[in-house]
Order: sequence, then C-alpha cells, then structure tokens
Amino acid sequence: MKLSYDNVKRFVAHINLKKVGAYGQKKIIDSNILIIGLGGLGSPIALYLAAAGVKNIGIVDNDTIDISNLHRQILFTEKDIGKPKVEITNNKLKQINSKINVKKFFTKIHITNIQKIIKKFNIIIDGTDNFNSKLLINDFCKKNKKILISGAISKFLGQIFVFDFKKKNSPCLRCFMPDKPETEEQNCQSEGILGTLAGITGTIMANETIKEILNFKSLCGYILMINSQDFSIKKIKLTKNKYCSKKHGKI
Ligand SMILES: [Zn+2]
Repeated sequence: MKLSYDNVKRFVAHINLKKVGAYGQKKIIDSNILIIGLGGLGSPIALYLAAAGVKNIGIVDNDTIDISNLHRQILFTEKDIGKPKVEITNNKLKQINSKINVKKFFTKIHITNIQKIIKKFNIIIDGTDNFNSKLLINDFCKKNKKILISGAISKFLGQIFVFDFKKKNSPCLRCFMPDKPETEEQNCQSEGILGTLAGITGTIMANETIKEILNFKSLCGYILMINSQDFSIKKIKLTKNKYCSKKHGKI
C-alpha cells in the first residue's frame, strides 16, 4: 500500500532517510502502541509518537492534572489543572495529527484489567512510576509475547529497558529486579526529579519504539542508565536469570 500524497508531504523528512523511506513510514503509521502512564515519561513519548504518525495510540492513566505535574509533564498547561490526563492527552495528540485514533483508558492498570487493555497493541510502553505496576506490566507482556519498553526516573537518574518477548530466552524486568524493594515506595515527586530528565528518558523511549517498529537494532535485552547530572550513559547487557520464570512466570 502506498502513502497518501498528504502523508508524503507531512513525513518527507522521515521518508528522505534511506533506512526509513516510504515503506518505513507506512510501518510507523500502521503501528499500534499502548502508553501506560501519562506523566513525565508518557508526555514526550505520546507527543513524539503522534508527531511521527503512529495511527493507533492507546493511553492509560487514572490521574487528573495537578500544578506540581507541570514542571515535567509537557503535555499539560495551567488551564488543564483538575482535568483527566487521558482527556487532555487525547485532545493534544489530535491537535498534532487529526488522523490518529486514540483509545482512552481512564483507569489504573490492574491485574483485573491489564489483559483486556494490552491485548490489541503490539508495543507496550511503561511510563508508570511504581514497582507494582512495572512488574505487573512486565508479567503480562511476557505472557502475551509483546514488545515492552519500560522506563524509570528518579532524581538525576533514568533507566530504560527494552524486551521483545516474542524472542525465546528474552530476559525480563524480574531478571534484573526480582521483587518490589522492601523500603517504603516513593514516587518521583516525593524524592525529587529534574524535570528535563523526564524529557531525555521519555524521548529515548519514543526513539526505541520507532526503532522497534522499523526493525532497527534496538536496546532490546539491555538496560540503558542515564545520569543527567554528569551526563554519563551506560548500556548494560541483561541476561536471563534461569530461576526467573520458575519463580514468577506463571500468571
Ligand atoms: Zn526474567
């Protein structure tokens, strides 16, 4: 199938990249991406994926916008305070690209709803801010053989994991972090976070998503650790923990 004249005009800068071309742009447009969490990570991810032409975007969040979100959650403005993040995100993404379909889930991801929510999407992006959600998303992406792009941010440090569970022997988040830490859970707001780190980490996650769609060599099977204070970046290979699936793989 060919790209329409409008899409050729709109995405000419992508199409002019030899490794993308019209074929690659068509793949981006036809992809199905789910973004869980519309905070500091979800903001740049949603904006860049809508701008890149992803036609089917699912968004999951149960929060409303608070003034303390605005220092990093660039989807939102002062006039949005008190409104649901999924509603404002939907409006914003359609302002960028009126052709996209946004499926809104105004809910917190939970063991009772996750299977139904994730099943129609090919790539799942985890921008949540707590371990329970991250481990739940990891387990169900593994069960459903999805591609998972997971990010976490705290203070000056960002982490990104990419897993393709269609591949046999893919490591998973639990290989690296088997259980929820025992200390009282803190979210990024309470322990502090540099606003721009959310932008840096989220934009790399959007970049990895586009690379997965285009079958480029991605960060799959690695963890990328970013320190935005001294700007050191480490890429560490993850290996499957042979006890991981025995302990946690059955859902
Ligand atoms: Zn594992």
